[in-house]
Formats: sequence, structure tokens, C-alpha cells
Amino acid sequence: SMDFAERVTRVEPSATLAISDAASELEAEGVDVVDLSVGEPDFPTPANVVQAAKDAMDAGHTGYAPSNGIPQLKEAIAGKLAEDGLDYDPGQVIVTPGGKQALYEIINALIDDGDEVALLDPAWVSYEAMVKLSGGSLTRVDTATHDFALEPALDDLAEAVSDETELLVVNSPGNPHGAVYSREALEGVRDLAVEHDFLVISDEIYKEITYGDAEPISLGTLDGMGDRTITVNGFSKAYSMTGWRLGYFAAPEELVSQAGKIHSHSVSSAVNFVQHAGVEALSNCDEAVEEMTEAFEARRDMLVDLFAEHGVDVAVPEGAFYMMLPVDDDDSAWCQGAIDEAHVATVPGSAFGTPGYARLSYAASEERLREGVERLAEHDYI
Ligand code: PLP
Repeated sequence: SMDFAERVTRVEPSATLAISDAASELEAEGVDVVDLSVGEPDFPTPANVVQAAKDAMDAGHTGYAPSNGIPQLKEAIAGKLAEDGLDYDPGQVIVTPGGKQALYEIINALIDDGDEVALLDPAWVSYEAMVKLSGGSLTRVDTATHDFALEPALDDLAEAVSDETELLVVNSPGNPHGAVYSREALEGVRDLAVEHDFLVISDEIYKEITYGDAEPISLGTLDGMGDRTITVNGFSKAYSMTGWRLGYFAAPEELVSQAGKIHSHSVSSAVNFVQHAGVEALSNCDEAVEEMTEAFEARRDMLVDLFAEHGVDVAVPEGAFYMMLPVDDDDSAWCQGAIDEAHVATVPGSAFGTPGYARLSYAASEERLREGVERLAEHDYI
């Protein structure tokens, strides 16, 4: 047998695979599956963005791009971040093929064997995998017991971190729970980061998707956090551009030069004409983002109400397009049963470090969401 690198054997294949395999199998048999397991908006990419990519191809932007990104896009990103209150020079930005690659480069530039990284559970699945690939060790803090709010979990976070902590990952609005962290909570994070001198990744990929009065705050805007925050964002979610693979991070210059080596020696750059489309997305899509967000909000309201009618209380998400449904302790069995019997696909909370829940994506039509809830009720899953 092949002699694999130890680092790759530390990582499990994506836990969502079992569910998507089961869904595909059923669909191949002609079964109608309500798929609430996917992490992507169900809207087309805005037409003006598609047109901008075509125009860029026609204009010949089909060769290698500058490694860290085309100047127009880095400037547009610095401008967008400035609107969020963040002070980054375009030279502090690296444009990546997706936010995921940004996170991978940051974690690999910072984390050595044995370095400690703290996560707030439930946490998006790839943080853990990336930390393990880089040899880091994980400290995990639960927020589920507080309905996914961070402020009541700050004492636990304070206990979990120490001078040994190298990095904390914060994701607000968050996948898989949709919570938006309060200013007080983020100030608590700041105090701990300063006390123990660690860096914080602020994954803001869902920042554009919030509801009602929820105010998403960029961590890097807090006093004392400017030079210890790495801000990650991307185009997949807000602009419905998952397949385009476009994201970025902005960071202190010394990290940009180190991570830039991983970037240039692995991906070279994000796709040239896709970056041109990214400029259009940042410049002329406010209305499209607003429309999609309104649709997500209406679906959230509908789902919360439907579950309430069935006697199930869910923590009401204030952003992103996911919610955590409380289920049996054995959430993997619940999810497997829900797909096999009710033909509704969801993701077990244990994949995110939080058993006892199933993650539902409401990036699906109201009709399909209603159908999904009805089927779960019919088969006694709720
Ligand atoms: N961060 C979070 C929390 C996510 O949920 C995702 C996608 O699911 C990403 C980052 C990465 O998205 P992309 O690589 O498509 O930009």
C-alpha cells in the first residue's frame, strides 16, 4: 500500500458526504429528495456579474493574473472593507480561489505542529480539517448550550485559551447556526486576544446576509484588534457565486508576505476574468444582495413558524441561511433516518462538533421547505 503523509491521515473525509451520497442514490432511483443539506444560495449569479466575466474574457483577460490579485479588485476590496470600518491597504489583500483557500493559506502560514487553535462550536467543518493538516491542536468551546450566542460562552472561552493559544477562529454570522455575535461578545474576544496575545481569524463570508436589527460587526474594527485580526470574506454566498471560486483575506503585511508564498506556489492566482467579475459584484450588486437576503429572511420566518406549529423551538438565526434543529442525541442516525424514510437531507450537528442537532439550509424555495417540514412531521422526525 502507499505510504501516505501522516498529516493527511489525520483528516476525515467530509461528513456531509454520507448524506449527499445517500441523496444521490435515492435520486438515481427516482425518489424526490428535499435537499436541505447544501451550503449554497439557490439563486443564479446576478446577470451583470455574468456579463462582466464574458466581457473580461472577450477583452482578453485570460492569462495569468498578478498573484495576489488584479489591482482593480484589490482596490474594490479595500474599499468594501473600508465601508465595514476596516482600514486595510490594497497591498494587505490577497485574492484567492474561494474563502476556503484564504483560510487554508492563513492557517498554514501561522500554525506549526502542536500550535493551539481555538474554535467556537458548532464550527464550520473545514476549520478543524485545516488545523489538523497543519499539525495544530484544537481547543473547542461550546456555544450550543447558550442557543449559539457567544457572550454567555465567554467564561468558557476564557478558560479554554491561554498564552499557548496561537489563533482563534470567529465566524459571525455563523455556519451552521446563523448567530450574529454582539459587540459585547466581540469585545470579550478582543480582551482575551490582547491578554494572551493571540491572533483571530474573522470569517465574514456571511456578513452581507443578516436580518432585522442584527448588526454584523467586523472584529477588526474593535480597538486593539486592527493588527491581530485576519479578515476573510468571499463572493460565494452574498453574490451567489459558489462555483466561481472567488474570495479573499486582508491581514497585517507580514502575514500577507508569508501566506503569499503559499498562495503563489500553490494556486498562482485566482482566475483572471473571474476577478474582473468580482469588481462588478462589489460595485453594482447591492440590490441583488438585498433581494436575496429578503428571500432568506422570509424563509427563515416561515421555517421558525412551521417548526413552532410542530412544537419545536429553534434558536432563531439572525444571518446566513442555516438553522440548527434540535434532534436526538444520535444526530447521525437521525439524519440517516430522515433521508431514508422522509427523504429530507440535512447535515448532522456532530460534523460541526455539536451532536444533538441537524443543520438545515434554507437556501431552498418556500414550497420545498414546507414540503420538507411536512415530511419530517409525517415520519415522526419532529
Ligand atoms: N467559511 C464558511 C463559514 C463557509 O460556510 C464557507 C462555505 O461553505 C466558506 C468559508 C468558504 O466558501 P468559499 O470557499 O466558497 O468562498
